[in-house]
Amino acid sequence: MKVLKFGGSSVANAENIKKVAEIVADKKYEQSIIVVSALGGVTDALIQTGTSAAKGDDNYKQLLLNLETRHLETVKNLLPVTIQSSCLSNVKQKFNELEDICEGVFRLGELSKRTMDRIVSYGELLSSTIISHYLNAIQINNEWLDSRKLITTNSQFGFAQVIFPLTNKNIQDWIAHSSSKKFVSPGFIAANQEGLTTTLGRGGSDYTAAIFAAAIQSESLEIWTDVTGMMTADPRWVSNAKTIPSTSYREAMELSHFGAKVIYPPTIQPAMQQLIPIWIKNTFQPQQPGTVIENISAQKNEIITGISSINTISLLSLEGSGMVGIPGFSKHLFEALSSAGINVILITQSSSEHSICVAVNSADANMAKHIVDEHFANEIASGKVDPLKVEHELSIIALVGDKMKSHPGIAGKMFAALGRNGVNIRAIAQGSSERNISAVVAFKDVKKAVNVLHEAFFESSYKQLNLFIIGSGNVGSKLLEQIKQQQEYLLHHLNLQIRITGIGNSRHMLFNDDGIQLNNWNQLLQEAPPMKLSGFIETILLKNLRNSVVVDVTANHQVADTYAELLSHSIAIVACNKIAASSAYKNYIKLKQLAKEFNVPYFFETNVGAGLPVIGTLNDLIRSGDSIHKIQAVLSGTLNYVFNNYNATETFATVVKQAQKEGYTEPDPRLDLGGTDVMRKIMILAREAGTAIEMEDVTNHSFLPPSCMQGTVDDFYVELEKHEAHFKELYLKATANNCKLKFVAEYVNGKAEVGLKQIPADSDFYHLYGKDNIVLFYTQRYPEQPLVIKGAGAGADVTASGVFADIIRVVH
Ligand code: ADP
Ligand code: ASP
Ligand code: MG
Repeated sequence: MKVLKFGGSSVANAENIKKVAEIVADKKYEQSIIVVSALGGVTDALIQTGTSAAKGDDNYKQLLLNLETRHLETVKNLLPVTIQSSCLSNVKQKFNELEDICEGVFRLGELSKRTMDRIVSYGELLSSTIISHYLNAIQINNEWLDSRKLITTNSQFGFAQVIFPLTNKNIQDWIAHSSSKKFVSPGFIAANQEGLTTTLGRGGSDYTAAIFAAAIQSESLEIWTDVTGMMTADPRWVSNAKTIPSTSYREAMELSHFGAKVIYPPTIQPAMQQLIPIWIKNTFQPQQPGTVIENISAQKNEIITGISSINTISLLSLEGSGMVGIPGFSKHLFEALSSAGINVILITQSSSEHSICVAVNSADANMAKHIVDEHFANEIASGKVDPLKVEHELSIIALVGDKMKSHPGIAGKMFAALGRNGVNIRAIAQGSSERNISAVVAFKDVKKAVNVLHEAFFESSYKQLNLFIIGSGNVGSKLLEQIKQQQEYLLHHLNLQIRITGIGNSRHMLFNDDGIQLNNWNQLLQEAPPMKLSGFIETILLKNLRNSVVVDVTANHQVADTYAELLSHSIAIVACNKIAASSAYKNYIKLKQLAKEFNVPYFFETNVGAGLPVIGTLNDLIRSGDSIHKIQAVLSGTLNYVFNNYNATETFATVVKQAQKEGYTEPDPRLDLGGTDVMRKIMILAREAGTAIEMEDVTNHSFLPPSCMQGTVDDFYVELEKHEAHFKELYLKATANNCKLKFVAEYVNGKAEVGLKQIPADSDFYHLYGKDNIVLFYTQRYPEQPLVIKGAGAGADVTASGVFADIIRVVH
């Protein structure tokens, strides 16, 4: 004999019930008990109906009518017209009874738990009746078995406790004396010793089936549902959740106790006692093996079996000096909670014994506060303990695995992964069985936490980055193009999944948690809602996705001002925007410290020399114990381009315009020409070398006439034309000395300066072409022959590739 249970979604409508019939028609279920839930959603709807009636809201009638229509429709869709009538009248009769009960509730304005149990019991009574009729109609002969006659409980309505040993004998007798081999029975419902209807708690049909299975010592218990077995995490939250092929009773118990809704926790006990294997199978993919729960898991190598969460809990803390060393305090606390029927989910006590902390369902928190404070009224009055502290909006995440106890480092890995993602932990508990580590986190973090842990323990093979890109100009577009081109490669070679979760520019902002399509991001962005930077940042924080990285490819002040907040939420920053790193030293160092404090990267390699590895090399030198004596550099691709192309045949202004057109200048070319851009860069290098230096400390020997710095960009070009003679003279003087003009930056002994210099032919700086940059590091290890970095130092393509490299570095 086998026992099968079909859940709410498996019997939600006629179409699904037909799938159930296909399953139970199989010869191997010739002798079986089929336990069914109410049609999906019906229990909730019945609760709502009863509650409305009790509140005097006559909308309950409409709710009942909807339910009646749904059930009648199901019958009509299942049975041929000729044989519908007896089933239809059975259903109608049940709705008449329900109507009478609800009318009573409506009139009295009162709904006891006992009456509520009566009301909800109709969900399973109806579904089992319909299914039994239908199976008989298609020659799957069966007898309807009233579970209320077979399972006896106490009178704790709403959550009745089964009285064992139960009517075991009765169940076996019943079956022995019946001419049928198949039975269909309502789950969830039972009766107390006076024969009044009780229920076994939400999700209780699983338990009904387990009780039957144990009573008849069936060869297996099969729980048929809408997912392919028990999974490594709730599949609605973790898209990569995998089916657990095999697990132990104890692991399954922990997982379900901590929120894996796929099996109702009390279900496991009766099966475990009789060593009956429990199968969890998918009604909609019956050929899939699903999960088997047995005494010992057949999984050999998995240390962690699954991750689950309870999403709405509150934390109660009882604290006070009066608790130290006095036995019985915790006993009193638990007695108080138990007297109110409050279930304790998790307990921690600090070794100082000053405080004891328990987690309960949020729905019980107010009651707990009331009862505990009353219980300890004397101690509170005399100041020995404080009134109970209650914290809401919390969740528990639990990592479960039998083999955890023999493996060190699991807790370390768990908390490191959570910490890296800015998930704060409020309390921790590990059962002495060491089968479970659970942590209390804020409700707003729970989804992220489950995903972070799933990635750490089940997807070690690949890692996901969620990018939010601000700026879609030259560099931004190139970056997106490069990412699109590399996505596949990174996934296969670095096991790195890069998802563009958000893109914003000055006009629009676009989000997609599944990753924005990179074929037509531009179009999607144009059709997206208007940009509001504060809204963009808020959305990133609210989404609270793991491994979030904000990529700033703007030159915008406001964007740079958001870094501190982002870093404080453990969101990584990759910036080609120089504003933050070159702002006041106080701000620069604050950002560096936040990055350290929250253990999250803040990278800005492209601030100096675009894609050239300048900052990274400097960091490596310092980290490996070298010290920087001097830096000499040509750091402006723009100025290089301009002086390489200016030979006094065309005007200086024309050459600058050309540079701007090619995209080698800042939007305001004066930032380049006036030397500000180079000053920023040498200052950033000096800072990275360990000097606390400000912009005012960098000497600028500007070659631009002061009038050029005034007015708009257009005015600037007019002024440049006016001063053509000045530029021509600079050029001719240098040529006369066989020199080239280069705008050079230098840092030595904590001081930095920038200015135009005549460079002779034997200098390292002489052979610089196009938009090249060069940096010479003179260090303790490179005292005479400097370490040289040279190459294209401007342009959207190389800058984007530098940003891309920083993004990939975030992972490591
Ligand atoms: P039924 O109505 O069949 O009793 P439930 O809704 O009670 O089904 O339970 C199945 C649901 O449990 C799944 O649809 C899934 O969303 C959820 N669930 C939560 N955690 C897990 C998990 N670890 N494995 C599988 N399903 C889970
Ligand atoms: N119908 C009940 C509920 O929704 C029992 C069950 O489906 O297991 O809680
Ligand atoms: Mg269920």
